[in-house]
Amino acid sequence: MDPVDRLTGVGSRVAAQLSRLSINTIGDLLWHLPIRYENRGQIQPLGPHLIGQSALIRVTIDEARALRHGKARLVAQGHDDTGEITLWQFGRFGPTLAAGQQYLLYGEVRTNAHGGLEMAQPELMQSAQHDAILAVYPTTEGLSQIKLRACIDQALGIALHDLEELIPAHIRRSEGWPGILAALQRVHAPRLSEGIPLRNDPAFVRLIVEELLAHMLALRLKHHEFVQNRAPSLSPGGRLYRNLLDSLSFEPTRAQARVLQEIHDDLARPAPMLRLVQGDVGSGKTLVAAGAALTAIEQGYQAALMAPTALLAEQHHRNFSQWLAPLGVSVHLLSGQQSAAERRANLAALADGSAKMVIGTHALFQEQVRFDRLALVIVDEQHRFGVHQRLALSDKGARPDGESLRPHQLVMTATPIPRTLAMSAYADLDLSIIDELPPGRSPITTALIRADRRDELIERISSVCNSGRQAYWVCPLIEDSERIEAQAAESTTAALRESLPHLRIGLVHGRMNSAEKNREMARFKAHEYDLLVATTVIEVGVDVPNASLMIIENADRMGLAQLHQLRGRVGRGATASFCILLFDEPISDKARTRLSLMRETQDGFRLAEADLAQRGPGEILGTRQTGLARLRVADLIQDAHWLAHARDLADALIAENDPNTSALIRRWVGSAQQYGQV
Ligand code: ADP
Ligand code: MG
Repeated sequence: MDPVDRLTGVGSRVAAQLSRLSINTIGDLLWHLPIRYENRGQIQPLGPHLIGQSALIRVTIDEARALRHGKARLVAQGHDDTGEITLWQFGRFGPTLAAGQQYLLYGEVRTNAHGGLEMAQPELMQSAQHDAILAVYPTTEGLSQIKLRACIDQALGIALHDLEELIPAHIRRSEGWPGILAALQRVHAPRLSEGIPLRNDPAFVRLIVEELLAHMLALRLKHHEFVQNRAPSLSPGGRLYRNLLDSLSFEPTRAQARVLQEIHDDLARPAPMLRLVQGDVGSGKTLVAAGAALTAIEQGYQAALMAPTALLAEQHHRNFSQWLAPLGVSVHLLSGQQSAAERRANLAALADGSAKMVIGTHALFQEQVRFDRLALVIVDEQHRFGVHQRLALSDKGARPDGESLRPHQLVMTATPIPRTLAMSAYADLDLSIIDELPPGRSPITTALIRADRRDELIERISSVCNSGRQAYWVCPLIEDSERIEAQAAESTTAALRESLPHLRIGLVHGRMNSAEKNREMARFKAHEYDLLVATTVIEVGVDVPNASLMIIENADRMGLAQLHQLRGRVGRGATASFCILLFDEPISDKARTRLSLMRETQDGFRLAEADLAQRGPGEILGTRQTGLARLRVADLIQDAHWLAHARDLADALIAENDPNTSALIRRWVGSAQQYGQV
């Protein structure tokens, strides 16, 4: 639609103000919905039902008293046929309420300490305004409600001619939705006779679900498009995987077996798999990944696993080598730190197909990396990668006979995301959840301790380490400054070395290069250190089962999901583990409640739900939030219960080849590019 300055009364100043509200076109005005309404058309009888509402009342003043002290100028007592109310006037403007007179007043009704009704600074009205439910909009400095309302009125007038109905009639009927124009009229200019629209009004619901539906469409269409590609169909053999299981000292959990079955069903199809596996820290995602990789390898294909850091790539390389080498499968590592000769050898082995399993970091994306028959790409800790990077790897598809095949994609994340949110934010992926931990894990005891009780901590660390266990000390996250963060970690290390001279203390922080980080981590893993001081770089995936104590500084400043990830670094062995969350006084009630939840539960999904409720989806989705974070009428927290339904509707529209899907995406998502490519 046209830019807003085409409207009467909108010059560059108003246009700039509107733009601060993300309103740039006349169409944008339509989706700028009221936050509340004022009913000035109907005189309300006094009574407790008015508490919390703005209302028009007609009262006779029984008594009015001028005040000398305090902020109020006048307090009056009034009544109507059904009740009484106290009225307060402030400031020196407006006529003074006088005893014996009757007034028509508009304002917010509240309750006072004695349970009576009161209204502060009522507006004096001449008469009830007919059919006057007024929409009140979110606005910005300098832009009045009246001006904004006038703009929206004009936009509605234009929409009458211009706006297309994009939802097919049969869906509107089955959902009980009004048409698009009726819905907009209802929310922007409700008629008194129909009452004030609430968020569950069919008009609101239609707009909310239409928006969510459009976002789901953008993602589902990508999914749909992607699975039109061809992929090698891998029949589940299972010999290598069975051999692997035979060599292990444990059985897969039921959840691991179920998820691997879901993966095998996908791999058997000639279309590329696009599956997200969510599993809490320690749920055993690596075994599932290995099972999938072995299926590809057994049938003469190659598999690649991509990790977010060199440290994790090396750890995976060690684990995979231990598991796969005895089965006769060599595991290659591709990382930035290899010598040129090593690298050349690895590249050659990938290109000629002799390397079956490769593990690496971003280095895997590089153009020189060629595969012979790549059938499976596994991405660990997905939230660290952008979709574009995944695409780059998926382009390196298997080309056994010149035909372009896409590899299957398996994405693994340890960030638990509430199911409804995962289904929508990751609507381009199919979802599997490993919702069970391997048996024999001892629970982690979590305690909250004030940062000034440091001496007790020193003793604690000392006794844990003296008994042959290891500990982590996590330094606070300092946003936007790796340098200050590193300095803090260094001075903490120095202080701890002084207090604990008999312990061997290592340090990793984000300013070290990965060779240095790796060396320190490796030494900690080999128990050459008793205590490791670290910044949040150790967050993801690092596995040292002998570590049984973790101390996290400034825990009150971190999100629950992040604390949960960090805490997952302990409790990996059989001994009882402890996690100590340090906080500084004063601590807000909210932060205290949050930290208490850490003490109560080790269920990552519960913690994620709490994060979602308190901090919104951005916290949980990280880089994924781009599209859904820019919702106009829907709200991911309030309207989360509509997401699954919106996704079903999106699939229905795709299935029936609805002609308006792209227009819907354009209306609400803008360019679908912001979701990138799957
Ligand atoms: P994550 O899901 O966090 O990546 P890992 O795959 O690293 O978890 O597994 C954590 C630990 O649990 C590893 O030492 C792994 O060998 C072990 N493990 C995996 N599956 C099982 C199982 N079914 N029974 C016992 N231990 C298991
Ligand atoms: Mg892992």
